[in-house]
Amino acid sequence: MGMLEKKTVRIECRSDRWRFVCPRGHRSWEPTNHHFWCASCARTDGVDGSFNELRDRKTGELHERERVRLVTPTGPYDRDLDGGTER
Ligand SMILES: [Zn+2]
Repeated sequence: MGMLEKKTVRIECRSDRWRFVCPRGHRSWEPTNHHFWCASCARTDGVDGSFNELRDRKTGELHERERVRLVTPTGPYDRDLDGGTER
């Protein structure tokens, strides 16, 4: 895989939800415009629920928000970030 290639994460896919977790290992994250946000972290005292790197439990790698291509059943989550936006 090339350095510039984005990691595709199907955010509503069960197997991807198990594989990709927040830095503390939760699966209760969701994307925001420029970060991710984890409900479990947000409930923890002294922990900010937002984070920027998704952890791949299979490889142990961290994937920055901008290096992740999020896909939903209806298409790309980040239409504006992934290009193809008509101006
Ligand atoms: Zn978390």
